Amino acid sequence: MLVAPQIKGIDKSSVHNICSGQVIVTLATAVKELVENSIDAGAKAIHVTFREHGAKAIEVSDDGKGISEADFCGLTLKHHTSKINKFEDISDVSTFGFRGEALSSLCALGHLSVLTSTGGLGTNLCYEKDGSIAKSTPHARPKGTTVVIENLFQSLPVRHREFLKNLKKEFHKAIDALQAYAMVSVNIRIHCINIVNKRKQVIFSTQGKSTLKDNIIDVLGCPLFKNLTFVDYTDSIFHVYGYISKPLPKHGRGSADKQYFYINGRPCDHEKLSKTVNSIFRQHEKFQYPVCVLVIDIAKNNIDVNVTPDKRKLFIDNENKLIEGLTKYLEEVFQKFAGVFVEQSSA
Ligand code: ADP
Ligand code: MG
Repeated sequence: MLVAPQIKGIDKSSVHNICSGQVIVTLATAVKELVENSIDAGAKAIHVTFREHGAKAIEVSDDGKGISEADFCGLTLKHHTSKINKFEDISDVSTFGFRGEALSSLCALGHLSVLTSTGGLGTNLCYEKDGSIAKSTPHARPKGTTVVIENLFQSLPVRHREFLKNLKKEFHKAIDALQAYAMVSVNIRIHCINIVNKRKQVIFSTQGKSTLKDNIIDVLGCPLFKNLTFVDYTDSIFHVYGYISKPLPKHGRGSADKQYFYINGRPCDHEKLSKTVNSIFRQHEKFQYPVCVLVIDIAKNNIDVNVTPDKRKLFIDNENKLIEGLTKYLEEVFQKFAGVFVEQSSA
């Protein structure tokens, strides 16, 4: 007897809902995606506004190139992007985004609206959950784009409840993610506020200066910066530079909560790198973790960024060479501080 097939395709809108929750997992991922889009659009000033810590809305406004009318429909469609055409392009991509998943996912997870202008009169666009345009109205705006996402995760009841329950924690993680971008984004001003009960609070602000050092001072503060030392290591494949705590009493921290790693400008999580840095530091200061902001530049064809939806995990060719070289270099740097008095080094 012929049995009806049990294996069937899931309908398009269910697939959209299933996948969107994997692309945008937390408040931090949502904000990161919007800020990455602003940087990719060539913005020099980015304003991030959280309403009620992000529970009500997140708003990212930029002075980038704006979105032209011809792209209003494609903007929020799954796997629609202006950044690549085919798979091979990923190996040479210099933008943060390339999968065309963020805005379409945000449509499914909350209420998305976009106000954009390429120079002339702007347009205000409201999108439906499936990414189609619900409403389009002319609206004055200088060149650039504002993306607003309201009621994030409302379409995923369990996630939404968890999000609201852990709101302050989620908010702090989102700020930390934003600060990682703010430090590495030279010549871009990032201003971040939170509005609670109509009262504005500035969370942090960078001045768009041209050095990593100035951005670190803007974000982490001068007292913390004074405890860092410059590092600069190069071999035939890698260039690593940035700042790390001097291995002296009270120069590090009790936890590894202020460590930022970047690969080709992309904030990332690299367990081996952080373990390496921590273990060398702890040979000098047993009970502390260093603060560090380390930028690693590698030829594009030596990394694979297409590993996780948030692109924070990367595969690196010759990773062991990097770890070995950096270990030797940091040991030499830290050795110079052996026997230095705290008073002298922090003067
Ligand atoms: P991706 O960044 O991977 O291309 P997104 O869903 O994040 O995918 O964005 C889709 C497209 O929308 C981008 O490729 C870009 O062309 C456009 N876009 C998104 N945000 C902005 C922005 N702030 N300014 C200009 N264009 C934008
Ligand atoms: Mg993007």
